[in-house]
Amino acid sequence: MAFVIKKRTTKMCPFCKDPDKYIDYKELNLLEQFLSYRGKILSRRITGVCAKHQRKLTNAIKIARNLALLPYTTDKLR
Ligand SMILES: [Zn+2]
Repeated sequence: MAFVIKKRTTKMCPFCKDPDKYIDYKELNLLEQFLSYRGKILSRRITGVCAKHQRKLTNAIKIARNLALLPYTTDKLR
């Protein structure tokens, strides 16, 4: 019996990897990478961001949404 061994690729947090990357609510190009196509914040499990940076990221996205820089939701489907 052969078992398929799933290779688990360890994702490194992009913000820990590159300390020059700064999480800010004004950096929309950066924040958009962590949103789904519906405008939802992607989970850590998918993006590989560490807990500390996910917290900062979430706060930044929420501030940007409040200032109407990022959408709360999109109607791209219709
Ligand atoms: Zn990190």
